[in-house]
Amino acid sequence: MRLRLLLLRARSSSRRSAVCVVLHRVDAPASPPGTRLDPALAPAAFRRQVRGLARHFKLVHASALRSAAAERRRGGRIPVALTFDDDLPSHLDVVAPILLDAGAPASFFLTGATLHAPFCFWWQRFDRALERGLVLDDPRLPAFDGTTALGTRWTAVDAMGDAIRRLPPTRRDEVADALLEVAGPDPPDAGLRADQVEKLARAGFEIGFHTRRHDSLTRLDDEALRRAMRNGRQELERVVGRPLTAIAYPHGDADDRVARFAADAGFAAGFTTAARAIAADGDAFKQARIDAVRLPWPDLGFALVRMWLRAPR
Ligand SMILES: [Zn+2]
Repeated sequence: MRLRLLLLRARSSSRRSAVCVVLHRVDAPASPPGTRLDPALAPAAFRRQVRGLARHFKLVHASALRSAAAERRRGGRIPVALTFDDDLPSHLDVVAPILLDAGAPASFFLTGATLHAPFCFWWQRFDRALERGLVLDDPRLPAFDGTTALGTRWTAVDAMGDAIRRLPPTRRDEVADALLEVAGPDPPDAGLRADQVEKLARAGFEIGFHTRRHDSLTRLDDEALRRAMRNGRQELERVVGRPLTAIAYPHGDADDRVARFAADAGFAAGFTTAARAIAADGDAFKQARIDAVRLPWPDLGFALVRMWLRAPR
Protein backbone atom coordinates (compact mmCIF):
# COMPACT_ATOMS: atom_id res chain seq x y z
CA MET A 1 0.00 0.00 0.00
CA ARG A 2 1.21 3.50 -0.73
CA LEU A 3 2.18 5.48 2.37
CA ARG A 4 -0.27 8.25 1.47
CA LEU A 5 -3.13 5.74 1.45
CA LEU A 6 -2.12 4.17 4.77
CA LEU A 7 -1.85 7.65 6.31
CA LEU A 8 -5.28 8.59 5.02
CA ARG A 9 -6.75 5.50 6.68
CA ALA A 10 -4.78 6.09 9.89
CA ARG A 11 -5.81 9.73 10.15
CA SER A 12 -9.49 8.82 10.08
CA SER A 13 -8.90 7.27 13.52
CA SER A 14 -9.37 9.38 16.63
CA ARG A 15 -6.41 7.74 18.44
CA ARG A 16 -4.75 10.05 20.93
CA SER A 17 -1.23 8.74 20.50
CA ALA A 18 2.13 9.91 19.20
CA VAL A 19 5.45 8.38 18.19
CA CYS A 20 9.03 9.29 19.01
CA VAL A 21 12.08 8.55 16.87
CA VAL A 22 15.70 8.37 18.06
CA LEU A 23 18.80 8.79 15.94
CA HIS A 24 22.49 8.89 16.81
CA ARG A 25 25.13 9.34 14.10
CA VAL A 26 24.30 11.02 10.82
CA ASP A 27 27.55 10.95 8.95
CA ALA A 28 29.14 9.90 5.70
CA PRO A 29 29.88 7.14 4.91
CA ALA A 30 27.02 5.04 6.30
CA SER A 31 28.08 1.90 8.19
CA PRO A 32 27.19 -1.57 6.87
CA PRO A 33 24.61 -3.20 9.22
CA GLY A 34 26.01 -5.11 12.20
CA THR A 35 29.56 -3.81 11.97
CA ARG A 36 29.34 -0.95 14.49
CA LEU A 37 27.65 -0.35 17.84
CA ASP A 38 26.73 3.14 16.68
CA PRO A 39 26.04 2.79 12.95
CA ALA A 40 25.96 5.98 10.90
CA LEU A 41 23.07 7.05 8.72
CA ALA A 42 24.10 8.77 5.48
CA PRO A 43 23.14 12.49 5.37
CA ALA A 44 21.20 12.02 2.11
CA ALA A 45 19.11 9.22 3.67
CA PHE A 46 18.52 11.40 6.73
CA ARG A 47 17.40 14.32 4.54
CA ARG A 48 14.80 12.06 2.89
CA GLN A 49 13.56 10.92 6.32
CA VAL A 50 13.22 14.50 7.55
CA ARG A 51 11.45 15.74 4.42
CA GLY A 52 9.03 12.81 4.53
CA LEU A 53 8.33 13.25 8.23
CA ALA A 54 7.83 17.02 7.93
CA ARG A 55 5.46 16.50 5.03
CA HIS A 56 3.26 13.71 6.43
CA PHE A 57 3.44 14.03 10.22
CA LYS A 58 3.10 16.74 12.84
CA LEU A 59 6.62 17.28 14.17
CA VAL A 60 6.92 18.54 17.76
CA HIS A 61 9.54 18.66 20.51
CA ALA A 62 9.82 15.46 22.57
CA SER A 63 8.50 17.14 25.71
CA ALA A 64 5.34 18.21 23.81
CA LEU A 65 4.47 14.73 22.47
CA ARG A 66 1.90 13.72 25.06
CA SER A 67 0.07 17.03 24.91
CA ALA A 68 0.12 16.91 21.09
CA ALA A 69 -1.38 13.39 21.34
CA ALA A 70 -4.03 14.63 23.79
CA GLU A 71 -4.99 17.50 21.46
CA ARG A 72 -5.18 15.30 18.37
CA ARG A 73 -8.62 14.98 16.71
CA ARG A 74 -9.90 12.68 13.95
CA GLY A 75 -8.27 13.68 10.65
CA GLY A 76 -5.33 15.36 12.37
CA ARG A 77 -1.73 14.47 11.55
CA ILE A 78 0.10 11.98 13.77
CA PRO A 79 2.42 13.76 16.24
CA VAL A 80 6.06 12.70 15.91
CA ALA A 81 9.19 13.85 17.75
CA LEU A 82 12.67 13.47 16.28
CA THR A 83 15.36 13.05 18.93
CA PHE A 84 19.17 12.77 18.88
CA ASP A 85 21.47 11.51 21.62
CA ASP A 86 25.11 11.70 22.64
CA ASP A 87 26.51 15.20 21.87
CA LEU A 88 27.83 14.44 18.40
CA PRO A 89 29.47 17.26 16.41
CA SER A 90 27.61 16.06 13.30
CA HIS A 91 24.38 17.00 15.06
CA LEU A 92 25.35 20.65 14.73
CA ASP A 93 27.21 20.44 11.40
CA VAL A 94 25.02 17.99 9.45
CA VAL A 95 21.73 17.33 11.27
CA ALA A 96 20.77 20.87 12.35
CA PRO A 97 21.06 22.43 8.84
CA ILE A 98 18.91 19.64 7.33
CA LEU A 99 16.29 20.07 10.06
CA LEU A 100 16.25 23.87 9.73
CA ASP A 101 15.99 23.57 5.96
CA ALA A 102 12.86 21.41 6.35
CA GLY A 103 11.43 23.58 9.14
CA ALA A 104 11.54 20.51 11.41
CA PRO A 105 11.70 20.90 15.20
CA ALA A 106 13.78 18.31 17.09
CA SER A 107 15.16 17.48 20.53
CA PHE A 108 18.78 16.79 21.41
CA PHE A 109 19.53 14.79 24.57
CA LEU A 110 23.00 15.76 25.75
CA THR A 111 25.42 14.48 28.38
CA GLY A 112 27.49 17.65 28.53
CA ALA A 113 30.57 15.40 28.86
CA THR A 114 32.46 17.34 26.18
CA LEU A 115 31.57 20.95 27.05
CA HIS A 116 35.21 21.76 27.79
CA ALA A 117 37.33 19.08 26.09
CA PRO A 118 37.06 16.22 23.60
CA PHE A 119 36.05 12.84 24.98
CA CYS A 120 34.63 9.63 23.52
CA PHE A 121 32.35 7.20 25.30
CA TRP A 122 33.31 3.53 25.43
CA TRP A 123 31.19 2.45 22.43
CA GLN A 124 32.72 5.17 20.28
CA ARG A 125 36.22 3.97 21.21
CA PHE A 126 35.07 0.38 20.62
CA ASP A 127 33.83 1.24 17.10
CA ARG A 128 37.08 3.06 16.35
CA ALA A 129 39.07 0.07 17.67
CA LEU A 130 37.04 -2.30 15.45
CA GLU A 131 38.03 -0.20 12.43
CA ARG A 132 41.64 -0.69 13.49
CA GLY A 133 41.37 -4.45 13.73
CA LEU A 134 40.17 -5.12 17.31
CA VAL A 135 38.95 -8.72 17.62
CA LEU A 136 36.14 -9.72 19.98
CA ASP A 137 38.29 -12.16 21.98
CA ASP A 138 40.81 -9.42 22.79
CA PRO A 139 41.80 -9.82 26.49
CA ARG A 140 40.99 -6.14 27.09
CA LEU A 141 37.31 -6.93 26.46
CA PRO A 142 34.98 -8.86 28.80
CA ALA A 143 35.00 -12.65 28.38
CA PHE A 144 32.40 -13.43 25.81
CA ASP A 145 31.09 -16.54 24.05
CA GLY A 146 28.58 -14.94 21.72
CA THR A 147 25.65 -17.04 22.98
CA THR A 148 23.75 -13.94 24.17
CA ALA A 149 23.28 -13.15 20.48
CA LEU A 150 21.54 -16.50 19.87
CA GLY A 151 17.83 -16.20 19.28
CA THR A 152 18.07 -12.44 18.83
CA ARG A 153 18.66 -10.28 15.79
CA TRP A 154 21.92 -9.19 17.37
CA THR A 155 25.28 -9.55 15.72
CA ALA A 156 28.36 -10.59 17.73
CA VAL A 157 29.34 -6.89 17.81
CA ASP A 158 25.96 -5.98 19.37
CA ALA A 159 26.31 -8.78 21.93
CA MET A 160 29.79 -7.57 22.95
CA GLY A 161 28.39 -4.05 23.29
CA ASP A 162 25.75 -5.40 25.63
CA ALA A 163 28.38 -7.25 27.69
CA ILE A 164 30.39 -4.01 28.11
CA ARG A 165 27.26 -2.00 28.93
CA ARG A 166 26.44 -4.46 31.74
CA LEU A 167 29.85 -4.09 33.45
CA PRO A 168 29.99 -2.20 36.76
CA PRO A 169 30.82 1.48 35.95
CA THR A 170 34.42 1.40 37.24
CA ARG A 171 35.23 -1.80 35.31
CA ARG A 172 33.62 -0.30 32.21
CA ASP A 173 35.76 2.82 32.57
CA GLU A 174 38.82 0.53 32.65
CA VAL A 175 37.73 -1.15 29.41
CA ALA A 176 37.12 2.28 27.83
CA ASP A 177 40.65 3.38 28.77
CA ALA A 178 42.21 0.11 27.58
CA LEU A 179 40.44 0.50 24.23
CA LEU A 180 42.47 3.67 23.62
CA GLU A 181 45.51 1.41 23.09
CA VAL A 182 43.85 0.08 19.93
CA ALA A 183 41.58 2.99 19.01
CA GLY A 184 44.21 5.70 19.40
CA PRO A 185 43.49 8.96 21.27
CA ASP A 186 40.01 10.49 21.11
CA PRO A 187 39.91 12.90 18.13
CA PRO A 188 40.17 16.63 19.01
CA ASP A 189 36.72 17.32 17.51
CA ALA A 190 34.93 14.60 19.57
CA GLY A 191 31.70 15.81 21.19
CA LEU A 192 30.08 19.24 21.44
CA ARG A 193 31.80 22.15 23.22
CA ALA A 194 29.77 24.70 25.18
CA ASP A 195 29.62 27.17 22.26
CA GLN A 196 28.32 24.42 19.94
CA VAL A 197 25.61 23.39 22.41
CA GLU A 198 24.65 27.05 22.71
CA LYS A 199 24.27 27.26 18.92
CA LEU A 200 21.93 24.24 18.89
CA ALA A 201 19.79 25.78 21.63
CA ARG A 202 19.77 29.22 19.95
CA ALA A 203 18.57 27.62 16.70
CA GLY A 204 15.37 26.74 18.58
CA PHE A 205 16.00 23.04 19.18
CA GLU A 206 14.94 21.50 22.47
CA ILE A 207 17.81 20.35 24.68
CA GLY A 208 17.19 17.50 27.11
CA PHE A 209 19.46 15.61 29.50
CA HIS A 210 21.14 12.26 28.82
CA THR A 211 23.22 12.11 32.07
CA ARG A 212 26.90 13.05 32.26
CA ARG A 213 28.35 9.53 32.56
CA HIS A 214 25.91 7.59 30.38
CA ASP A 215 25.71 4.72 32.87
CA SER A 216 22.97 2.15 32.48
CA LEU A 217 20.66 3.64 35.15
CA THR A 218 18.85 0.43 36.14
CA ARG A 219 22.22 -0.95 37.31
CA LEU A 220 23.03 1.93 39.70
CA ASP A 221 22.22 1.88 43.42
CA ASP A 222 19.90 4.60 44.78
CA GLU A 223 22.69 6.99 45.71
CA ALA A 224 24.45 6.70 42.33
CA LEU A 225 21.13 6.99 40.51
CA ARG A 226 20.26 10.18 42.39
CA ARG A 227 23.68 11.58 41.48
CA ALA A 228 23.28 10.61 37.80
CA MET A 229 20.03 12.62 37.59
CA ARG A 230 21.83 15.77 38.79
CA ASN A 231 25.51 15.49 37.94
CA GLY A 232 26.30 17.98 35.16
CA ARG A 233 22.70 19.04 34.63
CA GLN A 234 23.01 22.56 36.01
CA GLU A 235 26.16 23.23 34.03
CA LEU A 236 24.36 22.20 30.84
CA GLU A 237 21.33 24.32 31.82
CA ARG A 238 23.57 27.38 32.17
CA VAL A 239 24.94 26.81 28.66
CA VAL A 240 21.49 26.21 27.17
CA GLY A 241 19.95 29.13 29.09
CA ARG A 242 16.86 27.22 30.17
CA PRO A 243 15.96 24.22 32.33
CA LEU A 244 16.31 20.70 30.93
CA THR A 245 12.84 19.26 31.53
CA ALA A 246 13.16 15.97 29.64
CA ILE A 247 15.59 13.09 30.10
CA ALA A 248 16.50 10.25 27.72
CA TYR A 249 17.77 7.31 29.77
CA PRO A 250 21.19 6.12 28.55
CA HIS A 251 20.83 2.95 26.41
CA GLY A 252 17.08 3.39 26.89
CA ASP A 253 17.37 1.51 30.22
CA ALA A 254 14.63 2.38 32.69
CA ASP A 255 12.33 0.68 35.18
CA ASP A 256 9.82 1.96 37.77
CA ARG A 257 12.60 3.03 40.15
CA VAL A 258 14.49 4.99 37.47
CA ALA A 259 11.24 6.64 36.36
CA ARG A 260 10.45 7.62 39.98
CA PHE A 261 13.93 9.10 40.48
CA ALA A 262 13.56 11.11 37.25
CA ALA A 263 10.28 12.55 38.55
CA ASP A 264 11.87 13.28 41.95
CA ALA A 265 14.76 15.07 40.22
CA GLY A 266 12.24 17.49 38.67
CA PHE A 267 12.07 16.21 35.11
CA ALA A 268 8.67 16.30 33.39
CA ALA A 269 9.30 13.54 30.83
CA GLY A 270 11.54 10.47 30.45
CA PHE A 271 12.36 8.49 27.31
CA THR A 272 13.31 4.84 26.90
CA THR A 273 13.86 2.95 23.63
CA ALA A 274 11.21 0.55 22.29
CA ALA A 275 9.20 0.27 19.08
CA ARG A 276 5.93 1.46 20.60
CA ALA A 277 3.59 4.41 20.27
CA ILE A 278 3.12 6.89 23.13
CA ALA A 279 -0.40 7.30 24.51
CA ALA A 280 -1.60 10.72 25.70
CA ASP A 281 -2.47 9.18 29.07
CA GLY A 282 0.59 6.88 29.25
CA ASP A 283 3.46 7.15 31.74
CA ALA A 284 5.30 10.45 31.10
CA PHE A 285 8.51 8.87 32.42
CA LYS A 286 8.48 5.79 30.20
CA GLN A 287 7.89 7.21 26.74
CA ALA A 288 9.18 4.87 24.03
CA ARG A 289 11.46 5.87 21.15
CA ILE A 290 12.02 3.81 18.01
CA ASP A 291 15.54 3.69 16.54
CA ALA A 292 15.34 4.90 12.94
CA VAL A 293 18.90 4.32 11.75
CA ARG A 294 18.02 1.22 9.71
CA LEU A 295 14.73 2.57 8.35
CA PRO A 296 15.19 4.61 5.18
CA TRP A 297 12.28 6.67 3.85
CA PRO A 298 9.51 5.61 3.17
CA ASP A 299 10.03 2.47 5.36
CA LEU A 300 10.28 4.75 8.39
CA GLY A 301 6.93 6.36 7.52
CA PHE A 302 5.27 2.93 7.21
CA ALA A 303 6.84 1.70 10.48
CA LEU A 304 5.63 4.76 12.39
CA VAL A 305 2.05 4.56 11.09
CA ARG A 306 1.80 0.81 11.73
CA MET A 307 3.18 1.29 15.25
CA TRP A 308 0.71 4.09 15.83
CA LEU A 309 -2.18 1.94 14.57
CA ARG A 310 -1.24 -0.76 17.12
CA ALA A 311 -1.62 1.73 19.99
CA PRO A 312 -4.82 1.51 22.07
CA ARG A 313 -7.55 3.86 20.93
ZN1 LIG B 1 23.23 7.69 24.46
